[in-house]
Amino acid sequence: MANRQVTPASDRPPTQKGRHHEVRAQGLREFAGLRFDHQRLDPFSLARFANLFVASFDEIEPLLSDETRQHLTGEGKDLWSGGAASHTLPSGERLIILNPTHSRNRQNATLMEEICHVFLGHKPSRLAVETRGKDGKVIARDYNHAIEEEAYSTGAAALVPYTAVKRMVAEGLTSQQIARHFAVSRALVEYRIKVSRLWAEYKVKQGLADPDDV
Ligand SMILES: [Zn+2]
Repeated sequence: MANRQVTPASDRPPTQKGRHHEVRAQGLREFAGLRFDHQRLDPFSLARFANLFVASFDEIEPLLSDETRQHLTGEGKDLWSGGAASHTLPSGERLIILNPTHSRNRQNATLMEEICHVFLGHKPSRLAVETRGKDGKVIARDYNHAIEEEAYSTGAAALVPYTAVKRMVAEGLTSQQIARHFAVSRALVEYRIKVSRLWAEYKVKQGLADPDDV
């Protein structure tokens, strides 16, 4: 676009990796029709635009192999967040499943990650169910760390844009308030604050650190 303005340096994440994720995340937000950085991105609407079909677990349960079903509903039921099928449906859509026991905020982040895998051209080799630890890191051994990081980080940046989180931190909002605004978990917001190199400022604003220590 000819009239696109050049982004001031202060509006770009300070790290190269951060900028890499932010550019793609902004593309996703534009695709979803969002114009402002404070607008909440609804991954469920974006999924429809992206030709992804988010099925309820009940709908897909009969399609799963015994082994997969046993893992997802048995001892692994608390360990997975979501997954994408490698084959497209007859409708041309790709099937996504989300763990029905997780909160909507957590499902938002999971769905954004799955959407990012598709948008970034990551190829699922099977029904790739994500297994994550408490810290949000993928713990299944057969995952490519770089691919997972790119998808998760891009999704998180699309949900909580850099310029918005920077402004909200400067205004003294808590991570809980920012999380509520964007319908994501507090952990995701704190992750965004940290990777955006805003954690020291955040602590000062919240009265959690002596400004002399920063
Ligand atoms: Zn993933």
